[in-house]
This record gives sequence, structure tokens and C-alpha cells, in this order.
Amino acid sequence: MGLLALGTALDWPEAKTKAHHVRAWGIKQLLEIWNKAKVKERDAMLWGDEVEYLVVTYSKDDPKVLLSLRQADILAALAGDKDLAKEVTPPASPVFHPEFGRFMLEATPGKPWGIDFKELLHVEPDMKLRYVHQSARVRILLLTRRRRAIAKDHMLPNEYPITLTTFPRIGSPGVFTEPHYPVSGPKLRSQFVPDEIANPHIRFPTLAANIRSRRGRKVQVNVPVFRDENTPWPWKDPTVNYDLHNWPEDDDVRNGAAPDNFIHMDAMAFGMGSCCLQITFQAKNITEGRKMYDQLSPLGPILLALTAATPIYKGFLADTDVRWNQISKAVDDRTAEELGEKPLQNDRWRIPKSRYASNSTYISEDPRLREEYLDPNLVIDPEIKQQLLDGGMDDRLATHFAHLFIRDPIVIFNEDLEVLDLSKTDHFENIQSTNWQHMRFKPPPADNNIGWRVEFRPMEIQITDFENAAFSVFMVLITRVILSFDLNFYIPITKVDENMETAHKRDAVLQEKFWFRRNLFSSRPSRGSGSGTNTPRSGGGGSRANSRPPSPVGPVEDEYKLMTVNEVINGDEEGEFPGLIPLVESYLDSVNVDVATRCQLARYLDLIRKRANGELWTAARWIREFVKGHEGYRRDSVVSEEVNKDLVGKVIEIGEREARGEGFKGLGRGVEKLLGGF
Ligand code: ADP
Ligand code: MG
Ligand code: MG
Ligand code: MG
Ligand code: MG
Ligand code: MG
Repeated sequence: MGLLALGTALDWPEAKTKAHHVRAWGIKQLLEIWNKAKVKERDAMLWGDEVEYLVVTYSKDDPKVLLSLRQADILAALAGDKDLAKEVTPPASPVFHPEFGRFMLEATPGKPWGIDFKELLHVEPDMKLRYVHQSARVRILLLTRRRRAIAKDHMLPNEYPITLTTFPRIGSPGVFTEPHYPVSGPKLRSQFVPDEIANPHIRFPTLAANIRSRRGRKVQVNVPVFRDENTPWPWKDPTVNYDLHNWPEDDDVRNGAAPDNFIHMDAMAFGMGSCCLQITFQAKNITEGRKMYDQLSPLGPILLALTAATPIYKGFLADTDVRWNQISKAVDDRTAEELGEKPLQNDRWRIPKSRYASNSTYISEDPRLREEYLDPNLVIDPEIKQQLLDGGMDDRLATHFAHLFIRDPIVIFNEDLEVLDLSKTDHFENIQSTNWQHMRFKPPPADNNIGWRVEFRPMEIQITDFENAAFSVFMVLITRVILSFDLNFYIPITKVDENMETAHKRDAVLQEKFWFRRNLFSSRPSRGSGSGTNTPRSGGGGSRANSRPPSPVGPVEDEYKLMTVNEVINGDEEGEFPGLIPLVESYLDSVNVDVATRCQLARYLDLIRKRANGELWTAARWIREFVKGHEGYRRDSVVSEEVNKDLVGKVIEIGEREARGEGFKGLGRGVEKLLGGF
């Protein structure tokens, strides 16, 4: 997250009156960048990951594990450490960023990775180094071995950066942060979490408060509870207090905000306090960037299901496996009119999705993109679209931005509204960066010094750096395969939405089927009676779909079918669908990769292959099994302090094992089902 001008942040009633102003200037800034950067060519193939961490306090003797709210101190210690850069190969110090939760950190590589395959091998050590930088305890363990020089204290001895997506007992009754603050505060008005749970920078509490205020009530983050043998049914969330009278919003639960059989949460922190793994790719030009955006889009739900890691909320086992919809609900600022609960009077349109949601449209001018893949009900702002068209932008890209610009800016600083600065992109970014779709198309910054980028955002963070490196590298290889084989993943965008819902189901990776394109090699539609298409299953390097005979146009429905994640990743038994990993392998066969690199890549691909075919468990599955197998679990869906502590303790132990490079064998508690023999 790029930071963060200071100024006077407007409360919602006032911000609302300036929304048009921000949008109008945002569009001017967008046209300025677009006109400057649309002709950019030959930008390098670069990419970078973002890893998000929760910071917990843990010690063997303390019965509680807590969220540490020392984000600012830890970041200051890291920023003040001038030696970090010297210790890194390649020499670029990792960059640490704040995030929404005051218990969160984000780390990115010091500079983006390049196209060389050897660089793929730097990713995992770099992630480990980022982890080591943060954790005093791990550093001390490694001190005698090899990292004496970086052993400075950025964290307290009992603090650990862990990569669970969510803290299992955030918002549970009692104490769950260090230090402890009472609920509730004026910004979030939550009955479960204090305002101090959020990063105190004015941007974040304002974001939360204005979302609530625009919406006219608190956000409603309801997750179906997992029904176990002893779970009372119907289940009423026992942590909900119906008798509070501190804020008008305390009425929400009396007005039905907390239905039976759902874990009820009421604040942005329950969603934006989740950790994910994001990858940003730079394309060589805008055309390639638009193509990557479209082609990666249908892969989003598949990778969400494959990385599932979120089975617990607020101290209860959930009946879903991933974080996505919860974040979506936690920042859903739509009014009752926009939601369709009341007739439109004050608002401009009904909006079918939260501003955090799956992609709503495709953006490429690829001739293979059929009209039928687009959503006929896409909501756009027609005036904005016209301004973009008048400014010279093509229809499809103008449609994309005119869709993003149906939203209001949420955080507005008064000082920024004085003069329009076309050498900046702040107003454009205000709308762009609060549209949290599962891909983001990132234009070059105002100074135009880098290229058009595409961000892949759906993946859940994994427990180990090994897994995070594996999924990052896999996505890099997939983009290489897409571009060099000119693959076609198009399905109707509404099917991608449907897949995103499917990915939430418990164990979707093994139990569910997803809409997926049958023939990835189909070339542009034409009316000719071409002989169909052929599939280079091996040694297909350099082959190009557009050099093949065109395929005839049939009904769109014939182009896709339901497949398991295993079929998508590993191929189907009939040999009709090749599978993404075999495609990656045939791509690697076609390029020059040295043996050592190939071996390391094989480790990563093997992890993903096994997650898809069920030989290994997702983190969601592992966490469920851990809870179920714990002597303190009473089969009533409750994840107690004791279970939570042991779970987090095991995650810390896995992290220490990894930092010592000792492998994951013998850790018990099903760790081998999660990580195999890696
Ligand atoms: P955001 O939070 O807005 O997505 P960050 O700055 O946190 O952005 O992360 C962006 C990621 O993109 C980082 O991994 C960074 O290394 C990477 N990156 C930076 N510059 C480029 C570039 N020119 N091309 C590709 N990736 C880049
Ligand atoms: Mg970031
Ligand atoms: Mg960000
Ligand atoms: Mg982030
Ligand atoms: Mg990002
Ligand atoms: Mg949308």
C-alpha cells in the first residue's frame, strides 16, 4: 500500500458532497497517464510478491496467544536498520509496509524480480529473510549459524510474524490483543473489536467509519458456522450482545443483523485484518497487460480454492474455507437503495457487488474475446465513460474504468481538493485502490518510469515461505505459458463470479467443480469451417495459437464445462484437457533452464500438484483437522483459547523449522499431510 498523505480527512456527510469532484479530477488524471503511457513499449518482464503477516505474542508459559498491536514500533525499528540492505542477495533490502490491522505487516522484495529463471530461486530465500528480519526469536536461533549481522531487535522476544490468514480468536470475548483495549469505539462502533485494532493513521479509521456511515449501519460479516456433532442447532452466536445502547448502530443486531447459524461480525477489521499473497506483473506494453488481466481472471477462483486457509472466525469453526467473501462484506459500503432493499431515490443505481469482489469485466481487445463473455448487466457511469471516450480511450477500457468509477471515494483529504495536479494520480488512485477486485490493472505512475502492471489478488497466504514461494513462482510460470502458447482461458465473466462462490465451500479444492474452458488453444473466432484445434501436450514451445487454422464459432456454452481443481491443474483422465502443470512443464522443456533451477521448480510444482489431487491438505483442511484432533475440542465448533494457543504454537514451530532449513518431518499433528516430505 503506497502511503499516505496527511491532512484533514473528511467525515462522510462532507466527503459525500465532494465525491463528484474527486471522480472528475480522477478521470482527468487517468486520461493524462493513459495518453502518456499508452505508447510505452518494451518494458521489462518484472514481477513482485506481497506477503502479509499477523504479529502475535506467544510464550510457552502464557496460556494466551494475543495479537500484538506494535505495528508502528516494529516498522520503525525495521526502517531504522541501515544494515539490512547489506545482508541481502541480490542487494535490495526487503520493504516493509503497514496494513489495515494494527497487528499486520506487509513485506515485499526490495526491487521487483526479473525474467531470468534463476531469479525464481531467489524468491524463497528472500521471503525467509524477510521473516528473519522481523522475528527476534528466529534470528537468535540463527545467530550462531549465519545471520549474525542482521540480528538486531525489531521485535520483542515473544513476538512472532506468522502467516495465518486470520487470527482465529480475533473479536472473541475477553482479551485478544496486547495491549488490551475495551470495546467499543466511535470509529468502528463494533461490539467485538476496539477501534485500536486498526492502524491509527487517519486514513484507516476514516475508511472504516465512512464505509459504515455511507452504508447507514455497520458492516455485516456473517459466516455460516460449521455444524459439528455437539453444535447446538439452530445455532445462535453466543458472543452477540443484544442489550448494548452505546451507539445507534447497536440496534443493528436487534434489527436482524445476526441471523441463526452464522458467526456474526460487525467491523472492517474482520475482513481487512486478513492476510493474503498477491503478485504483480509488469507487461511489456498495455496490450500485453490487458491480455494478462483477462487470461489470469478465470484462474482466480481456482487459486483461491487451492490456497484455502481460513476455516476459523472469532473463535468458531466456519463452514467456509476462504477469506474472500468476508473481506467483501467487511468493506461493503452500499446503501439500502444500492443493495436493492429500497427503491432508488437518492442513489444513482443498484450495485450487485461489494467494492471488494470478483472481477466484473474483461478489458482486452483480443479478437478471441466474444461479446457473450461480458456481463450485459455491468453497471457503469455513462458520463464517465463518455469523458474517457472523448479523451481518446477505446470502448472496452473506458467501460472498465467507468465501472470502477461508479463508486464514491471514501477517504478525502480537504487539502487535496484545492488545485488539480496532473502530475499526480492521487484522485484516480483514490477510486482505483478502493476497488478491490480479484485482479487489478495498474497503470504506470504519473512519472511514467515503470510500465503497465497487472496484479493477481485472490490467493490466501500460506503458512510457510516455501508454499508462498511455490504459489508465487507457479503464477509467474503460468503467465509465461499464457504468453508463449497464447492460451485462451476465456469463459463468461459471470461464470467466474459463480466459481468464486464455489471456492468458498468447505474443501472445494477436492469436492467441488468449477467452470473452465475446455480448449485453451482455440484461436480467434471466425465463420470459417476450420479443422478445430490441436493441443501441443509436449514440446509445444513457440507454437502460437494464431498460426493455427481458425476454429468455427459454436455456442459459447460448448466452450466450457465443469472441472475439478485436480483436472484443471493436473489434466483430465481422458487426456482431453492438458492441465496447467503439464503445460508449465512443456513450456519449461521448450526453454533453457539449468538442472538446478529445474529441480527447485519441480519442488514447487509438486506441492501444487499434490494440493490439487488431494495427496496433501490445504491449510484450511489442516487447521480443521488440528482443531478436531485437539483434546480440548468438544465437537461444538468452539475454538477455545487453549486450542488457539496450540495451533498458533504449532505454526510458530513450523516457521522455526523452516528458518533452520530442517524440513517439516516429525512435527506431528498432521503437518506431514500439509507439507509432505518437503
Ligand atoms: P500494492 O499494495 O499497491 O499492490 P505494493 O507496492 O505493496 O503495491 O506491491 C507491489 C508489488 O509489485 C511488489 O512486490 C513490488 O516488488 C512489485 N513491483 C514494483 N515495481 C514493479 C514493476 N515495475 N513491475 C512489476 N512488479 C513491480
Ligand atoms: Mg502492498
Ligand atoms: Mg495494497
Ligand atoms: Mg497488502
Ligand atoms: Mg497489492
Ligand atoms: Mg464490482
